[in-house]
Amino acid sequence: KNYQVVVEENRRLYNEVQELKGNIRVYCRIRPFLKGQNKKETSIEYTGENGELVVANPLKQGKDTHRFFKFNKVFGPSSTQEEVFLDTQPLIRSLLDGYNVCIFAYGQTGSGKTYTMSGPSINSEEHWGVNYRALNDLFHLTQSSQNTVMYEVGVQMVEIYNEQLIFLNLHTLGIWNTALPNGLAVPDASMHCVRSTDDVLELMNIGLMNRAVGATALNEKSSRSHSVLSVHVRGVDVKTDSELRGSLHLVDLAGSERIDRSEVTGDRLKEAQHINKSLSALGDVIFALAHKNPHVPYRNSKLTQVLQNSLGGQAKTLMFVQINPDEDSYAETISTLKFAERVSGVELGAARNYK
Ligand code: ADP
Repeated sequence: KNYQVVVEENRRLYNEVQELKGNIRVYCRIRPFLKGQNKKETSIEYTGENGELVVANPLKQGKDTHRFFKFNKVFGPSSTQEEVFLDTQPLIRSLLDGYNVCIFAYGQTGSGKTYTMSGPSINSEEHWGVNYRALNDLFHLTQSSQNTVMYEVGVQMVEIYNEQLIFLNLHTLGIWNTALPNGLAVPDASMHCVRSTDDVLELMNIGLMNRAVGATALNEKSSRSHSVLSVHVRGVDVKTDSELRGSLHLVDLAGSERIDRSEVTGDRLKEAQHINKSLSALGDVIFALAHKNPHVPYRNSKLTQVLQNSLGGQAKTLMFVQINPDEDSYAETISTLKFAERVSGVELGAARNYK
């Protein structure tokens, strides 16, 4: 296959899933109801393909008994990691056409963000989340086009906690020796050159261990930090020497639950305020992009600053909106869906009453 054919094929694949709003798409994923808990399940009716869902209010009071939402797609509780990835793959492949891509998982703690992005375990390929599958797929593609395009792939891992960036840097720790690719000039020493899926698995394993033993035991705080995995790709056409660059950011966001100010103080309050601020800033940026506003407020949080070059313009954005079906989570579920509705630029207005 020559270079152009690969590009055209990727473009076609991408266009097939390009619906609704230009470069911003929103997928809703409802995680299964975890058995063994003494809880009730919220009634949610949905149609996967056309992305509609109707959520019943368990209190059944007032006019507002049901709420209707529409996104690009809804994945129900029995959806597999593979199915979710199949609908994400074309977007990821557009990275090799030189696009920048951001994929977020948004939702309250326990709604399945990490499950969707990473999966429950690194060791079981069947359960791999979007990030391992994405890198695996990229390596397959880059290897199959080796004779026409030479690719370099670099990976960075960053945590954003209390508006501070914490880069995983295995070079300074003497753990990662693979030389930085020459051409992949992202001016940062935290870039790790990877050549295979095994490299990625190793890197992430070390990253997770490193997090867990870190001075601040960030692992325990993981639901209160944003975790960003960035993949940078540079491709050079061997015949023409023309160059293409793309980047993919896979973001497991901090839990979106609202903290009752009367119940927390000190560090927890500070964390909650930082999370609140950065999630609203992210919402404002995507909203501005969806509405093609001339001013996009990137400067309001570290998260949006870090992702500035990959949000907007020619970049493509996907948000996974994660839903916890426990009835106790109803209020958070509605607030999550409203956030998603706002960023998708497809606000359907007032709640409708479904009989
Ligand atoms: P979050 O990252 O939003 O805090 P997790 O990804 O840790 O949430 O998910 C919470 C729990 O629910 C975990 O035990 C996880 O394995 C389980 N879970 C989440 N999504 C799914 C799913 N689609 N299928 C099976 N179990 C899931």
